[in-house]
Amino acid sequence: MTAPQWAQDLVLQVALDEGRDDVPELTWHRSKRSAFSSGRTWHTSSRIHVTAGTQRRQTQIPYRSGKRTGQVSVRAEQKLVLLHEVAHWLTPFEKQAVTYGRGGDWYDQDGNKADAPTGTRYLSHTATFWDTAWRLFRRYKVPLTYAKVREGNYRKGALIAARKRS
Ligand SMILES: [Zn+2]
Repeated sequence: MTAPQWAQDLVLQVALDEGRDDVPELTWHRSKRSAFSSGRTWHTSSRIHVTAGTQRRQTQIPYRSGKRTGQVSVRAEQKLVLLHEVAHWLTPFEKQAVTYGRGGDWYDQDGNKADAPTGTRYLSHTATFWDTAWRLFRRYKVPLTYAKVREGNYRKGALIAARKRS
């Protein structure tokens, strides 16, 4: 399916605001199972794919993280995932000599998750990436409470970057 207009507009706006003269291709799909959205970015083909959550008309998605519960709008949840991927598009994967499991997940240049750092591997969730991601979350008004829960759930580096300016 075609990406919603707001998502296409947002990607274009970020590219302009970041001084880019190119825009990634955006493809969009709706999940059959998950209430929450997910995304993926391919650097070599400059493409972003979002699998939107199942919610259509419901305006709020309840979420839970440990003892914290809250609600996020369908639009804000999708916007967070989209901006996370746009931050990947803006941040080239870095070759890094770190021990597997410490610095984040390992990917090859096309974004395929790699099991172990053998040969040339690229690290995607770097400090530079998170700085970029939080800059976008703030500038394009993603609810930061939800962003901290969502991104902090599984990536420590996300919260280190979030704390820098909050
Ligand atoms: Zn990511």
